Amino acid sequence: MTLTAHWVRGWLERPDDVVLVDGDDGWALTGAAMEAATHELAGRLAAAGVGAGDRVLLSRSPSVETVLAYVAVLRLGAVVVPASTAYTARELAHIVGDVRPVLALVDDVSRIDGVRAYGGRLDDLPPGVAVRLDAAVSDDLAMVAYTSGTTGAPKGAMLSHGNLLAGAQALVRTWGWTPSDRLLHTLPLFHMHGLGAGLNGSFTAGASVVLSRFEPGLVVETAASYGATLYFGVPTMYAKLAESGCLAGLRGLRLLVSGSAPLDPVLFGRIAEEAGQAPVERYGMTETVMLTSNALDDRVPGCVGCALPGVQVRLGDGGAVEVKGPNVFRGYWERPEASAAAFTDDGFFRTGDIGTLDDQGRLRLVGRASELIITGGYNVYPREVEDVLREHPSVADVAVVGLPDATWGETVAAFVVPTEAGLFDAEVLAAHASAGLAAYKTPRTWLAVDELPRNAMGKVQRDVLRTFHLSR
Ligand code: ATP
Ligand code: MG
Repeated sequence: MTLTAHWVRGWLERPDDVVLVDGDDGWALTGAAMEAATHELAGRLAAAGVGAGDRVLLSRSPSVETVLAYVAVLRLGAVVVPASTAYTARELAHIVGDVRPVLALVDDVSRIDGVRAYGGRLDDLPPGVAVRLDAAVSDDLAMVAYTSGTTGAPKGAMLSHGNLLAGAQALVRTWGWTPSDRLLHTLPLFHMHGLGAGLNGSFTAGASVVLSRFEPGLVVETAASYGATLYFGVPTMYAKLAESGCLAGLRGLRLLVSGSAPLDPVLFGRIAEEAGQAPVERYGMTETVMLTSNALDDRVPGCVGCALPGVQVRLGDGGAVEVKGPNVFRGYWERPEASAAAFTDDGFFRTGDIGTLDDQGRLRLVGRASELIITGGYNVYPREVEDVLREHPSVADVAVVGLPDATWGETVAAFVVPTEAGLFDAEVLAAHASAGLAAYKTPRTWLAVDELPRNAMGKVQRDVLRTFHLSR
C-alpha cells in the first residue's frame, strides 16, 4: 500500500476528526476535508500536466495549502521534490536541472526559471480533471529529497512510498504516537525532519498537526490554544526557547523531540529542568528517514538511542555508522557512482557519521567522517572539543574546524560566540580546554564571532567558517 492510501483510509474511517490546523487563523480540516481537498488538488495538478512518476518541485513556506499540495502530489503517484525556501534562483536552478520537474509550486515565481511554476495560491492551477488516486504500489518513487548540503553539493535521495511509510511507522511505535496526539509543527516542510517525521508520522498515526511559525512566545501560545501534545525541534530552536524563558510553557506537552544536529548536554539539562521532561533525541538522515531514537523511558543526554524497529545499525571501520532497513533509500537520483559507493557489499548504507555503541545498543554520534581533523597524525573530533568548551560559562556557542597547516597537516581552530562581548579570552579558554583535553586536541587558533553560520536545520556550516578565516 502507498503512504497516502494508508492516510486516506484512516481519514475516511474517522471523517470528523480534525487532521490539520492553521495555528494563525484556526482554519481546521477534518479527515473528510483532507481527502476531498487533496483529491480536488490532485485533479488540478493532473490538468496542469502532472502524471504518475513526474517530478513536482515543492518550495513553499509551511501552510495548510503546502501540506495539501504535498499530499496531492503523492496521491497522484507523482514524485515530490522538496526544496528549501531559502534557496536562491541559482540553487533552485541546480535542482531543476538535476531532477527536471514538470511543474514547480513555489511562494514566489521570480525565484525560479526553466520550469512552469505556480506561486502563491493554488487555485491559480487550472480546473481539475478526473484522476485515479492512490493507485501506486509501495515500491514506487514518492520523493527525491535533497540532502542539506552540509558536506558538499546537495544530493537527491530517492525514497519510495514504502521507505517513507516504514520510516513513519517505526516512529509511531517508538513514541507511542496515537490519534489523540497533536503535533505543534514549526519546522520547514522541505526537509526530512518536518516531512518524514513531522507530517508523515502524524498522518500515519492518524494524529493531527497544528502549523505555526517558529517564534518562542508563539510556540507556547499555539501549543496551549490548540492542545498540542508533541513538539519537534532542532537544537537551535530549543536554544531560542531557552533564551526567551519559554521552556516552562511546554510543560503541558506529552513529548519533546530533538534532532537534525547534536543537542548540547547542557541544553538537554535545561530542557529537562524547565520544561519538566527530558527531551527525546533521535537521529535520522534525508536518505533514511529516521534511524535511532532514545526510548521514552530511557532519555540519555549526548546519545541518540537505539535502532528503531526494523532498522539495523552497526559500526564499520573507525566507528563508521552503517545501516540497513525498509526505510533506507534506493540510491541517489541519476548518480550511479555515488549510489554504488554509498552501500557496502552486503547492502548497508554508509551514513558518513562516526559513532560508538554501548552494551545496550545505544548509539552516540562522535561526528562526521568528513569533519575529522588530522593534526600531526592524531585524530580530533570537533564535537568532543566543542562539548568541553561549551561547559565554560563565557561560551554561548562554539564550532571547531581544522585549518590547513604546512607542518601539522591541519591545526585545530575554535570559533567562539561569547555569552557577552567582553568575556572572550583566548588564554582562559585555552587553559580550560587543556584541563580537559589532550594537548593535540586543544585549539591553537581562537576567534570570537557574533554568531555561527547555520543552515535552516541548525547545522553549522564549517566550510563557511574555514573559508571566512582563510580569506582574512
Ligand atoms: P549532506 O549530506 O548534503 O552533506 P546533511 O548530511 O547535513 O547534508 P541531512 O540528511 O539533512 O543532510 O542530515 C543528516 C545528518 O544530520 C546526519 O548524517 C547526521 O550527521 C546529522 N544528524 C541528524 N540527527 C542528528 C542528531 N540527533 N545528532 C547529531 N547529528 C545528527
Ligand atoms: Mg548527509
